[in-house]
Amino acid sequence: MTTILPRLDAVLVSAPPRFSDPEAVSIAEGTFGLRAANARDLGSERDQTFLLLDAEERPLAVMKVSNAAEDPATLDMEALAVQHARLVDPALPLALPWPLPDDPTAHRATLERPDGPHFVRMYDVLPGRSRTDPRDLSDAALVAWGETTARLARALRGFFHPSAQRTMLWDIQHAGRTRAMLESIGDARQRLLVERVLDRFDDVVEPVWPSLRAQVIHTDLTIDNALVDDAGRITGIVDFGDMSHSALVTDLSSVLDSIVVDRGRDELFRTSRLILDGYQRVTPLEPVELRLLGELFATRAAVTIAISSWRVGRGLEDPDFGLRYNASVADTIETILGVGWDETARRLGADVPARGGAGAIAAVDDLVHRRDQVLGPALEPLTYDEPIRMAHAQGVWMTDTDGRTYLDAYNNVPVVGHGHPRVTEAIARQARRLNTNLRYLHDDAIELAERLVASCPPSLDTVMFVNSGSEANDLAWRLATTYTGNDGGLCTAFAYHGISAAIAPLSPESWPAGRRPDQVEAWMPPDAYRGRDLEPNGFSAAIERLAARGHAPAATILDGMLTSDGFADLPPAYVRALVDATHAAGGLWIADEVQAGHGRTGEAMWSFQRFGIVPDLVTLGKPMGNGHPVAAVLTRREIAQRFADETVFFSTFGGNPVSVAAALAVLDVLDDERVLPRVVVAGHALRAALREVAADHPVIGDIRGVGLANGIEIVVPDGSTTPDAERAGAIKDGLRRHGVLVGTTGPAGNVLKVRPPLAFTEAEVPVFADALQRTLVELDP
Ligand code: PMP
Repeated sequence: MTTILPRLDAVLVSAPPRFSDPEAVSIAEGTFGLRAANARDLGSERDQTFLLLDAEERPLAVMKVSNAAEDPATLDMEALAVQHARLVDPALPLALPWPLPDDPTAHRATLERPDGPHFVRMYDVLPGRSRTDPRDLSDAALVAWGETTARLARALRGFFHPSAQRTMLWDIQHAGRTRAMLESIGDARQRLLVERVLDRFDDVVEPVWPSLRAQVIHTDLTIDNALVDDAGRITGIVDFGDMSHSALVTDLSSVLDSIVVDRGRDELFRTSRLILDGYQRVTPLEPVELRLLGELFATRAAVTIAISSWRVGRGLEDPDFGLRYNASVADTIETILGVGWDETARRLGADVPARGGAGAIAAVDDLVHRRDQVLGPALEPLTYDEPIRMAHAQGVWMTDTDGRTYLDAYNNVPVVGHGHPRVTEAIARQARRLNTNLRYLHDDAIELAERLVASCPPSLDTVMFVNSGSEANDLAWRLATTYTGNDGGLCTAFAYHGISAAIAPLSPESWPAGRRPDQVEAWMPPDAYRGRDLEPNGFSAAIERLAARGHAPAATILDGMLTSDGFADLPPAYVRALVDATHAAGGLWIADEVQAGHGRTGEAMWSFQRFGIVPDLVTLGKPMGNGHPVAAVLTRREIAQRFADETVFFSTFGGNPVSVAAALAVLDVLDDERVLPRVVVAGHALRAALREVAADHPVIGDIRGVGLANGIEIVVPDGSTTPDAERAGAIKDGLRRHGVLVGTTGPAGNVLKVRPPLAFTEAEVPVFADALQRTLVELDP
């Protein structure tokens, strides 16, 4: 046998002490003054543990007599660690060492013997049974086991002791060293399995080990080191002997190795997930920890086989038990290897990305087919003929499953940038703490409502929370019809305001061809590029047409940037005239800020503020939660009151604490990052750069917008301003090839929609302009 092993862990290679039961009784009295009638050896790998009993066989205490090779500093570390953990989490069922009768600061007595000093420690007897069969643990007990494991690690988080920096072979960071034990594994199948796992450890785990969260951990909350009650819940954590400074997740590898053993292939992953659920209730795992968990689990199993075979070979362990147990542990490894590392990670809950390359292309085709099959024909088509499957995104950059990165100049929903940590953390934190509804009192929803009210003119004093832009507009419409008693609606000629039965009629963009709802009239908004409809007469005519059909307006609804109509920088006087005409006809004004709000224009938080108007109703959505569904209606108290006189309002998810946490985080980031002024600068820079590109490319008929709500109108380059939707589509596709995402909009579908997250800054402008320039040159060489 190799000679490096004894130096690694002297305790592992030396036999435990062999005191007799009567000797134990006298040791107890001599060291701690405890008079016991009897002692019973409980058996242990490293030391000797006795249960001390009185004359009626009632337990008095547990006494541990250490191995002669034990380092006293390690025992001192154990005592300090347990005290530390008790301080942090007093409810943890820890076995605390007794102080010595003559020295309350010391926890071990010394017994000098010819083979060396043995240290004696005394503990209270904790309730519960030992030597449970892990297969008897219920699902609830598995969850609780995971939770206790995490609590114990959390209780040790702030603890350190120099002796924790040790080379403990059971700690899988030293797994490689057990290769020296391979030849002791008699069973060739087991040896091969262990070797394969150790190889995988070297290849995949070892290189990232230094990046894993590390601290002093127990490393060994296994079935042997815990007492449990009748329900299988841990009532005592009895052995801190394997403590080590290691990766936090190492704790879980030993727990899984010990607890889910021998349950059969199908149960392995289900029971592991239950333990993980309990663990993550206390300490969520980091993605890399979850990703490696299968490897760590298998490595611990491999280490178990190696060490135990080696000890059996040396006569240090009962061969029958060792061989039987190793066969079960080998089954665990075999199951994991059979399923494969990626699939194991996935089954343990890791976010394992789909494979790239040819495999991914086939998978995309398959997904497209399945999308059509199951989501049906009414859903809007995918954005590109060759669809993009996004994998992750940060700020203004999105990455697909092939690892290709795109500048996002399209998505307005992640207003403060994709994956903004303030928002994702707020959502995760609140989701862990509490999610409920507005029939319970909750501070955050009220704070959010107050902050929204404070952002608007004083008359808008009431907030109603819903979950989408459509719902917000639907509710605004109900408020308007209830308040006015009218049923007519006005919207722009190619508006989109939502999907509900009331709002689809106010969305000409999605009207069925040739069908116009009787109660709705649309007007042509100004087209400054072509010098058309610049005056509000068209709007007055629409009101008259509505009246002619017997409908007085309940409301006019306007997206302040005309996103669906192809974007416009509307003159304030024009909008003011529309508001006045609406009011004069008995209707209310709905400012739909679902697109143009939350700082999109850079000039104001809400686009209506640019016009100097005071709407009767304001609707918010899309960017409000940076991607988390949350929406709202703001209105005047008298409008809400008229509604309340007739009915009550409640939306199950509206204003739930998680959505509200997201919305508050968005408002905070808009403030902290001074997003609005940044949007003004980025918008000017973008339009200036686009105009330079346009100078060489007459297909760009017009560039218009405010802040980061911009349209690039593509026309036939013959001076006629004729919309060219086909070319706009080709440019959109070309930009995608050059790594930039845009959309198309407008009645003719010829306006490139450039409406990025507001994390888009001047720095991204050249990337966009360059991609556009190259695309245009390619299309018109
Ligand atoms: N209003 C406007 C101006 C919109 O653009 C949209 C969605 N594109 C909506 C309302 C509807 O929002 P949602 O899709 O969240 O229902």
